[in-house]
Amino acid sequence: SAIIEFKHVDKYYGKYHALKDINLSIEEGSVVSIIGPSGSGKSTLIRTMNGLEPINSGQLLVTGYDLADKKTDLNKIRKNVGMVFQHFNLYDNHTVLENITLAPKIVLHRDDEENKKIAMDLLEKVDLADWADRYPRQLSGGQKQRVAIARSLAMRPKAILFDEPTSALDPEMIQDVLDVMKFVAEQGITMVVVTHEMGFAREVGDRLIFFDQGQILEDSKPEEFFAHP
Ligand code: ADP
Ligand code: ADP
Repeated sequence: SAIIEFKHVDKYYGKYHALKDINLSIEEGSVVSIIGPSGSGKSTLIRTMNGLEPINSGQLLVTGYDLADKKTDLNKIRKNVGMVFQHFNLYDNHTVLENITLAPKIVLHRDDEENKKIAMDLLEKVDLADWADRYPRQLSGGQKQRVAIARSLAMRPKAILFDEPTSALDPEMIQDVLDVMKFVAEQGITMVVVTHEMGFAREVGDRLIFFDQGQILEDSKPEEFFAHP
C-alpha cells in the first residue's frame, strides 16, 4: 500500500508555481529516485513530504496523515519519516553519539542504556564506532553524512527522505555514503532520494522520476528509463 500519496497537489512561493498538480503514490518499502534540472522543484517536492514546506492545495497523505490539514501534528509524521539533508544538519555542539541518541530520547523516551546500544550498533554499521565521542567538526563530509543517516535510522522510521545527500561531498567520499544508503534500502525502509547519482538510481532504485518545471515528466522503472535511446 502507499505510504506517501499526492493528489492534485499545488505549491506556490508567492506567485511562483513550484509544484503543479502533482499526483504521485509511493509504495511502502520502495526506493524512488528523483532527478531533474536545478530549480525544477525536486527539493520542494521532497520537503513537502514531511511538512518542511506547506502545500497550497490538494491532498498529501503521509503515513496516513493529511499534510493539507493544518491540524495535522507534524511530529507524528516526522517520527516515522526521517530526512537527510545535503549539508548534514548535525547538532554541532553534541558528540556523534549524542547526535544519534537525542531524538530517540526526547521523542520516543527510549531508555538510556537501550538508546546507547542501538546508537552504537548503528555507528558500527556505518563504520564510525571509533568516532562516537568526537564532534561533527572533527569529521569529514562523508563521515558526517553517515552519522546523519545513522541518526535517521535510530528513530526506526518507516521512510527516509534524502535531499541530494552526496552533492556536497568530495568525490572519494560518495561511495561510502551510497553504500550506507544501500544498507538502508535493504532494511525495507521506504526511500525517496533526490540525487544525481545515476548508478544508485539504477542499481538500488525501484523507480525513477524525472522532474521538470514543477511537474513529473517521466515516472518509470530504472531499467526502462536507461533503455531510452
Ligand atoms: P530543485 O531542488 O529542483 O533545485 P527547488 O525545489 O529548490 O528546486 O526550487 C524550485 C524553485 O522554487 C526554484 O525556482 C527556486 O528558486 C524556488 N524556491 C525554492 N525555495 C523557495 C523559497 N523558500 N522561496 C521562494 N522561492 C523558492
Ligand atoms: P537544508 O539543509 O535542506 O537547506 P534547512 O537548513 O532549511 O535544510 O532545514 C530546515 C529545518 O528542518 C531545520 O531547522 C532543521 O533543523 C529541521 N529538520 C531537521 N531534520 C528534520 C526532520 N527530520 N524533519 C523536519 N525538520 C527537520
